Amino acid sequence: RFSYRVAERGSQELRTLAQSFNAMAAALESAERQRQNLLADVAHELRTPLTVLQSNLRAILDDVYTLDKSEVARLYDQTRHLSRLVNDLHELAQAEARQLPLDRRPVDLNEVVQAAVELLEPVAELEGIHLDTRLPGHPVMVNGDGARLMQICQNLLSNALRHTPAGGTITVTVEATGDEASLTVADTGDGIEPGHLPHVFDRFYRTSQARDRDSGGTGLGLAIVRALVEAHGGRVSAHSPGQGQGSTFRAIFPRSSSRPSESWSSLA
Ligand code: ADP
Repeated sequence: RFSYRVAERGSQELRTLAQSFNAMAAALESAERQRQNLLADVAHELRTPLTVLQSNLRAILDDVYTLDKSEVARLYDQTRHLSRLVNDLHELAQAEARQLPLDRRPVDLNEVVQAAVELLEPVAELEGIHLDTRLPGHPVMVNGDGARLMQICQNLLSNALRHTPAGGTITVTVEATGDEASLTVADTGDGIEPGHLPHVFDRFYRTSQARDRDSGGTGLGLAIVRALVEAHGGRVSAHSPGQGQGSTFRAIFPRSSSRPSESWSSLA
């Protein structure tokens, strides 16, 4: 591999110049490597559902076999998975681009959680999961994009729902500590092995390839969450005592001191 580097020698001025050139070259190369990795990952993820669809359709065309309704439904699921992949990729690309158009205004994190919980409560009920909400008795203001904050909360909640068996509990907590605001989603479900924990926010990372793909996951949900939280100047973390012992996901945002804006009503 060709690498752009210049020798760092000569006068102090020349050395400084050479050093900054080399640092720039290294940054460019790393960006290029990441771009290539992303393309390879995307190609890999698209290939599986496409292969299933293509080989089945080919076999039908060639009169090798006919499909009954349930088999057609399986193929349809593959197209839905492809749609989800394309949507998630689009969202991730947007969220990771630094020019993500954030419509920022003072938002009360409590209201975001209430809206998200309201939306997912029926799903929890259907699946026999208890949804517990713990909000402080005062507004916790964040300078954020209401719709994006909602997306973060919904993503964490739907992950928790997917990974918690019936009878389990999901607890959503909002807290204000010093100049930070935190949103915590804790579940009593599958849990995550220590070896997987550092990677769960990486794109396409799955703790169980087959099971997660079948459950409709694209491996992009948490990558999107991280990119959105970071676009708000915040950070994310994941904790779990281990497999089968539940997981806790936390997003921390800089707190804003302003009062709620009255026009915050456009939650998507
Ligand atoms: P996916 O869309 O495939 O679920 P995510 O990016 O949302 O991908 O999650 C990445 C990995 O972390 C997945 O393998 C998933 O199984 C695991 N994971 C995410 N949330 C939880 C949770 N609440 N409990 C256990 N495992 C989780």
